[in-house]
Amino acid sequence: MDFRLTEEQEMIQQMAADFAANEIIPFCMEWDKADEVPMGTIARMQELGLMTIGVPLEYGGDGLDNVSKCLVCEEISKGDAGLGTTIAASTLLASDPVIVGANDEQKKWWYGRQLEGAVCAFCLTEPGAGSDALGLATRCVKDGNDYILNGTKQFITNGGIARQFTVFATLDKKLGHQGICCFMVDRDTPGVIIGKKEDKLGIRSSSTTQIIFEDARVPSSMMIGAEGKGLPILMETLDLSRTAIAALATGIATGCVEAALNYANERHQFGQPIATFQAIQFKMADMAVRAEASRLLYLKAAYLQDIGGPFKTISSMAKLYAGDSAMTNAIEAVQIFGGYGYTKEYPVEKYLRDAKIMQIFEGTAEVQRMVIGKYLSKNGYSPFITD
Ligand SMILES: Cc1cc2nc3c(=O)[nH]c(=O)nc-3n(C[C@H](O)[C@H](O)[C@H](O)COP(=O)(O)OP(=O)(O)OC[C@H]3O[C@@H](n4cnc5c(N)ncnc54)[C@H](O)[C@@H]3O)c2cc1C
Repeated sequence: MDFRLTEEQEMIQQMAADFAANEIIPFCMEWDKADEVPMGTIARMQELGLMTIGVPLEYGGDGLDNVSKCLVCEEISKGDAGLGTTIAASTLLASDPVIVGANDEQKKWWYGRQLEGAVCAFCLTEPGAGSDALGLATRCVKDGNDYILNGTKQFITNGGIARQFTVFATLDKKLGHQGICCFMVDRDTPGVIIGKKEDKLGIRSSSTTQIIFEDARVPSSMMIGAEGKGLPILMETLDLSRTAIAALATGIATGCVEAALNYANERHQFGQPIATFQAIQFKMADMAVRAEASRLLYLKAAYLQDIGGPFKTISSMAKLYAGDSAMTNAIEAVQIFGGYGYTKEYPVEKYLRDAKIMQIFEGTAEVQRMVIGKYLSKNGYSPFITD
């Protein structure tokens, strides 16, 4: 078993790490305070190809493997999880239904615009349908060669800045799973309205809004897959994109280790660096193990995705473990910083606020435990999970 990254993977990881060090970390506290999406930095990420890491080679992208995409997510999130979320939501989550189910013409439209700078958003959650996403109520009604969309989508990442959306809607709630359809929707479609902007605890450099559809007329040619066949597209999308969230969370977990270690070596109490106290060393050891194990889990899931192996349960494990690790490491990092950790002078206070979302979006920790538990009760446990 070879745990080394390839030369290309190392290169893209380094590029993302350098970008985070030079163009994100010096400014991210300002974005956080201003509750502002840094559009200039997003434009720079577009120039460097970071906003389009999900675009396949045949549609003009770099055709990166999943390991590379996740390495980018980790490094950017270590700098600022809001920007990591912006990238992952646009070029991975929102674009995965396109990879999974779109035809050639649709892919050309979607990716062509993305390469020109269009940010994307994924519209699934609704005020009444969160963990129970299949309880969605946004309607799509056939009218000639179009569908008319009506409904409200809640907590949409990139909602305020996206130029195109993937949207899940139902022909009729009574049809249950058979009624679900998936569309690509242009932001400029009449009847597409940017609703309330959320004032969030963390990831404040990312845009989160409602998206409202009021008699929005979408051509049938923008439907991904067949009418009523949206469910498999949705399920595959969520399976694919979960690994990237684990990578975002690993970025926070790792950033906490690095920040706390530096601080513990510099901070003196009782005449010596606090890093020499066993109580602090034990915390540091546990934090490093959590970061390392999170990385191993997401890399395993991403690698399995790349080789067409069974990755779904492992990606749930990665998302669950990395999300919990980000949160625990952030709490421990604040503790190691003592009173200073409770202030905005140091990065760990922001890590703590940013970490919490990793246990909530794209399937809460409880939902991941349900998925893993269901797999185990059906298949038992063995070191080589087969899905
Ligand atoms: C900042 C942010 C960005 C987001 N970005 C997007 C996006 O881009 N696109 C999108 O579509 N959505 C997005 N979401 C929505 C996100 O995926 C949902 O918030 C999440 O799935 C949980 O849904 P909910 O908030 O309605 O919570 P609920 O589903 O109401 O859950 C509330 C609590 O109950 C628990 N719970 C629910 N059902 C069960 C059960 N059966 N068993 C045990 N416990 C249960 C949950 O785990 C949770 O603790 C985002 C959310 C946020 C906050």
